[in-house]
Order: sequence, then C-alpha cells, then structure tokens
Amino acid sequence: MKLLVILFLLVCVLVPCLAITSSKKEAGPQTVLILLGAPGAGKGTQAVRLSEKYGLPQIATGDLFRENLKNETEIGRKAKTYMEKGELVPDEVVLEMLFQRLSQKDCRKGYILDGVPRTIPQAEILQNYLTHSHADVTVLSLEVPDSMILERIAGRLSCEKCGAPYHLLASPPKKSGVCDRCNGPLIQRKDDTPEVIGERLKAFHLQTEPLKEYYQKKGHLVMIDGTVSKQETIAQIDKVLSTTPLFN
Ligand code: AMP
Repeated sequence: MKLLVILFLLVCVLVPCLAITSSKKEAGPQTVLILLGAPGAGKGTQAVRLSEKYGLPQIATGDLFRENLKNETEIGRKAKTYMEKGELVPDEVVLEMLFQRLSQKDCRKGYILDGVPRTIPQAEILQNYLTHSHADVTVLSLEVPDSMILERIAGRLSCEKCGAPYHLLASPPKKSGVCDRCNGPLIQRKDDTPEVIGERLKAFHLQTEPLKEYYQKKGHLVMIDGTVSKQETIAQIDKVLSTTPLFN
C-alpha cells in the first residue's frame, strides 16, 4: 500500500513538477520561506505580513482547502471529513493541490508556505521540488506551548473571503467584524472549537513536529519564541531574515 502511494506521488506529482521546474532554471534561485508551528501559533499572521513585506505569495494549504470546500470541488470533497475532525488530509490530496498552486506564475520568484509541509512525506516530496527549483529555503518554527495555543484560539477570527487572520485581543480588525484587507466578514472557524483543536494539536505533535528535526539536519531551521508579544515575534523574525541574503 505504502509503495503504491509513493508510486502515485512520483507519477502524478513529481514528474509534472520536474517538467515545470526545468523550464524555470534560468530564472535564478527562488526564495522560499516555510512557517512551521502549531495551529494558532501565529503562522498566518506572520505569513500575511511577510508576504506584503517581501512581495512573495502566501500559500496556506488550510485556506486553499477552505476555498475548495466553499466551491464544492473534488479536492474539497476529499478534504472535508478530515478537516471537520481536525485530522490531516492525506498527503496525495495535499500535494496535488499544493503543486497546482506552485506552478502558477506568481510563484516564480518564490513563496511563503504557511501550514505545509505537515508530514515527513510531504516535506520529502517538496524538498525534491525545491532542489530542482534551486530554492533558497528558510524554515521558521514558531514555538508556542499547547496551554497558550488554547487561550489564543478562543479569540481567533478569520476573514470569510480572503482568510486573513485576526484576534479579538492581540490583533483586532480596525472595524469590528470586518476584514482590514478586503472588507469581507470575519468569522470563527468551525475547527476552532475546543474538541477539534485538541485533535489538531495531537496531529501537530505526532505528524508535524518531527519536521523540526528534518529541517534542523538540513541546516534550514530557525526557532522563534512565539510566546512573546506580536511585536517581539516580528522583531525576532526580521532579525533572522535580515541576515538571509535573498530577503535583502
Ligand atoms: P490550517 O488552516 O492550516 O489550520 O488547516 C486547516 C485544516 O486543513 C487542517 O486541520 C487539516 O485538516 C487541513 N490541512 C491544511 N494543510 C494541511 C497539510 N499540509 N497537510 C494535511 N492537512 C492539511
């Protein structure tokens, strides 16, 4: 079974990716920033900010899935039950959707990955793609303990239209209930309930946390203390990126 999944990924994902990346080689190295962290650690907030600062698209697989759910696509149908239960969507579904997005024109210079990879197989397939894209990779791990995650998620809101994240106390919108970016309505996510969040944290510790060691071994990992204020988190991240040539 495992062999079948790997074969599927190679044929359906990697081969088309290599074809895409071989035509990109002349374009120079891509700048790729990967944000790791538990749900509610602040990845979305930082990804939106960094996307604006560096002019790189934010690729958030959670947002892409929610868009697919709303549009009732085949990918949305495949992801629905996993998302409702707080479980991870199977790798082949994630990777198919991710590489469709990465093949778009706005990703040519680079991108910010928010919420992906989330498993070792996702990271390995992505790594192959990044190697062929001559990407310069930085991985930031936002470190926040579970107790603080539960507190933070209680006040979390996001824009129904564009997915921009807000928090009632830490980063409220300028106008109550309205997105600063696109004027869309702000809602609480269905999977931000205490029961589902427990499952999402379990999935994070079991399936996503091992990625820290994976990227540490590659020399890409930088740990960020995410327990401090938003401004202090920003300062840490900006300091790290200021020493990374492609972000200057
Ligand atoms: P997020 O908005 O990043 O918290 O993602 C919401 C949900 O989408 C997760 O709880 C998963 O069910 C699914 N999801 C998003 N990204 C991934 C991924 N890289 N791998 C597996 N499932 C994902």
